[in-house]
Amino acid sequence: MATLLDAPTTPTPPTLPLVPVDGNGAVSVRPARGVPRRGERPVGLYDLALPELTDRLVALGAPGYRARQLYAGVYGRLTADYAELTDLPAALRAELAATLPLTTLAPVREQEADGGETVKTLYRTFDGQFVETVTMFYPDRVTVCVSCQVGCAVGCAFCATGLGGLTRNLTTGEMVAQVVGAARLARGRDRALTNLVMMGMGEPLQNYAATMKLVAILHDPAGLNFGARRITISTSGVVPKIGALAAEPYQVNLAVSLHAPDDALRDTLVPLNRRYPIAELMAACRRYGEATGRRVSFEYALMSGINDGEATARALGTLLRESGVLCHVNVIPLNPVDVLPYARPTRVGIERFAETVRAAGIPTTVRYSRGVEIAAACGQLRAEHMAAPQPAP
Ligand code: SAH
Ligand code: SF4
Repeated sequence: MATLLDAPTTPTPPTLPLVPVDGNGAVSVRPARGVPRRGERPVGLYDLALPELTDRLVALGAPGYRARQLYAGVYGRLTADYAELTDLPAALRAELAATLPLTTLAPVREQEADGGETVKTLYRTFDGQFVETVTMFYPDRVTVCVSCQVGCAVGCAFCATGLGGLTRNLTTGEMVAQVVGAARLARGRDRALTNLVMMGMGEPLQNYAATMKLVAILHDPAGLNFGARRITISTSGVVPKIGALAAEPYQVNLAVSLHAPDDALRDTLVPLNRRYPIAELMAACRRYGEATGRRVSFEYALMSGINDGEATARALGTLLRESGVLCHVNVIPLNPVDVLPYARPTRVGIERFAETVRAAGIPTTVRYSRGVEIAAACGQLRAEHMAAPQPAP
């Protein structure tokens, strides 16, 4: 049974200076009322790549090398408070505390499942939105699942995140904060964070620039020094951005949420398919593989009576074999969402489906997802939190 813990610290988000955030990829979706426009979002230290931080410190009259010291403190040692960075002059620490908050995300609640091996953290943003992050402890790795948007514009039929549409993109700093939070959780258990998957709320390739900046900040050897090969970006199939990703200097892993082997079915599950149908998606994946030499993972959320038939499995095998894409398939048994009419197949049905795809020569694994008991399908904890009566402020 899940334990519901109050996060040890539940700070109210600080009152923040409103200054422009750059590098935030936009989606052509009108922001909901009351959502701050791009230029009105607060900047925290986690928003700044090392050269930007250096410029800021120089503007404050400090030597540029202080930026590396700061990076070593907040990422290398995971310091949560400027006051602890005693290698910096007190006046600079005070100035930073007043003008550049470390983070703009406040943890609201933490839930554990799988005997504590899965931890889900709900955060509140500076403008009162909620986002969630899942940290998974395995014997050989610790993986964080990061959210990149509040809601999602794609609206896949089976996904809790897409239910209310897109509210807004997260900033780079809001994503970095989730990673740092997971790194601290891991350290608290004498473990190190080893992997990152962009499989939380939102479509990372519709928040492209901010996601790429996240990769750059995490990758910086002066900070977390997190290798791009330990990062996986999952997409519902934003074809032009798959091309862009192939041209990036960082060699991240690509996961494509396929869920169906033909357009008629995929149109009903992943509405973006009407814009970028399967043939275009496969061509983009093939080009990605050719440009990077990397294998693409195809995600397949298995739903009873929808996309789990024997003929569908054979069609999937044929599609992928004939596509020429170097790939493997991850079958994800569906995490049912209360208000949606989709169910998880039986274990026998799941294994049979995987075996049929394998028989077509496509390496296939079944990923029994973590944290089912705490509603770990993306967007579910947030949906529950929003539906529950809120305590008075
Ligand atoms: N937007 C991106 C990444 C976030 S979703 C994408 O769609 O790829 C991460 C993965 O979880 C995707 O493969 C998505 O299809 C899958 N997913 C969403 N809702 C799910 C559910 N209820 N059960 C199982 N998988 C789900
Ligand atoms: Fe968005 Fe991914 Fe959910 Fe589809 S599955 S609605 S793309 S978050």
